[in-house]
Amino acid sequence: MQQFVNSVELDEDDEELATAEDLKQWLVSRDLLPRGARVTTADLRRALEVREGLRSVLAMHNGAVAAPEAAASLEAALEGCTLRARFAADGTPGLVPVRDDARAGLARLTAIVAAAATDGTWSRLKACADDGCRWAFYDHSKNRSGRWCSMKSCGNQHKARAFRERQRAPSAAQGRKARS
Ligand SMILES: [Zn+2]
Repeated sequence: MQQFVNSVELDEDDEELATAEDLKQWLVSRDLLPRGARVTTADLRRALEVREGLRSVLAMHNGAVAAPEAAASLEAALEGCTLRARFAADGTPGLVPVRDDARAGLARLTAIVAAAATDGTWSRLKACADDGCRWAFYDHSKNRSGRWCSMKSCGNQHKARAFRERQRAPSAAQGRKARS
């Protein structure tokens, strides 16, 4: 799931899913789609809408205000990516796609999301709070307070900016005091 959302580096403009064939390879290599499936440009467009819709949801996990439009367009993009229940011979239940075209790949991703929501890991998957980054990361912190994909890059950048702003504020105040 994390890999899907991170199939583009927004800050580097590096898109892994540039063509329908890229999407096909991506899904096939992760056993989300059979090798013989046909993937069209419309499927690619749909997949990118799903990816960005999921990114909006992951931003909400990181404190972004709830965006009903984002949830609605994610749902619309998943139209036809239908799942049904299947029981193995030993009774083990699972959710499997109804269709076997490219939408099956997105349906399988949705099943992964549903499973993650059930086991409690979904809300720990977040989009980085840095506006230019928005990389998906798993928040391992005990109190679920993680905000940045990495303290090294985004977290420190933010800290440095906050520090500069704090530095600037008192000196401005001192300036006023000196004049009065
Ligand atoms: Zn980041």
